[in-house]
Amino acid sequence: MVVDINLESLLNGDRRTLAKAITLAESQLPLHQVAAQNLLERALPYSGKSIRIGISGTPGVGKSTFIEAFGLHLVAKGKRVAVLAVDPSSPIAGGSILADKTRMEHLSRSASAYIRPSPAAGELGGVAQKTRESLLLCEAAGFDVILVETVGVGQSEYHVAGMVDFFLVLMQPNAGDELQGIKKGIIELADALVINKADGDLEPFAEQARGHYQQALDLLKPSSGHGGKWKSKVMTCSALLNYRIDRVWDMIKECCQQAKTDKAFEAKRAQQNTQWMDSLFRHAILSDLMAKPGFNALKSELKQQVIAGKITPLAAAQQLVKV
Ligand code: GDP
Repeated sequence: MVVDINLESLLNGDRRTLAKAITLAESQLPLHQVAAQNLLERALPYSGKSIRIGISGTPGVGKSTFIEAFGLHLVAKGKRVAVLAVDPSSPIAGGSILADKTRMEHLSRSASAYIRPSPAAGELGGVAQKTRESLLLCEAAGFDVILVETVGVGQSEYHVAGMVDFFLVLMQPNAGDELQGIKKGIIELADALVINKADGDLEPFAEQARGHYQQALDLLKPSSGHGGKWKSKVMTCSALLNYRIDRVWDMIKECCQQAKTDKAFEAKRAQQNTQWMDSLFRHAILSDLMAKPGFNALKSELKQQVIAGKITPLAAAQQLVKV
């Protein structure tokens, strides 16, 4: 693997260099990690200038169709677009691969786009950390808009919402008059709910859903939790027919503009960075502890004692910390 990444070539937006840089950052080898951290430090001053957008939604809702249409719309406006993913699920276990080029065929052929699937499945926090690093590298390479895709499973949405400026949740209308329940946590995270597939027979259901979700938002979330004045919105679109995709972009621009005026944009990024630091710190402490000689042996011994009821879990944990 290439350990020496040419910073100039990265800053010039060379996609092959960017791909190598991300591969280096994703590597678990200590030598590669040192090189990657060094590169990230040098690239950091050139990052931060993009608009970071999280896109979440359950499988089948139309994420890849939406990202393809949305990405191409941005490219037509002269933007350079990168698509990353946070996907803790293994494709072997049956999940679709996020940010997969074959799912975004036209966008992947554009010279102004860069699509990178999620790093290999692993512990979610680790996967999300790699995606954050990839995001910074894409920004250093001059990408104007970074889309971070995730499925609405478990905690992945929280990780993605914690690394973007705008968090968009894609939904789809039900072909019945019943509304799908929506996780309350999602409403709290979402800057917008976008109901996709508002076309053909589904269009009236999409409109109906829009009204209901808007009511739910007004009730649950009077204003955005980001310290800004943004009031989360509900919209409908059709990614398949390219309908109202431009409006989604206008909405995101409006939100970011407003946040910049209110000084909430930088404040949110600063808060995300300190939270990232905290999580890296916790991770580092844990790895150091687990790497201590005798840790594993003591842990198995204490486990046996807990199972046998000879020691409380609290006492065992306290002993383990002092290994
Ligand atoms: P993902 O799993 O969330 O990435 O969803 P896909 O983008 O793969 O879409 C799932 C299915 O929904 C595919 O058959 C798409 O053609 C279809 N689909 C996506 N967007 C739309 C849309 O706007 N309207 C309609 N009618 N179908 C759509």
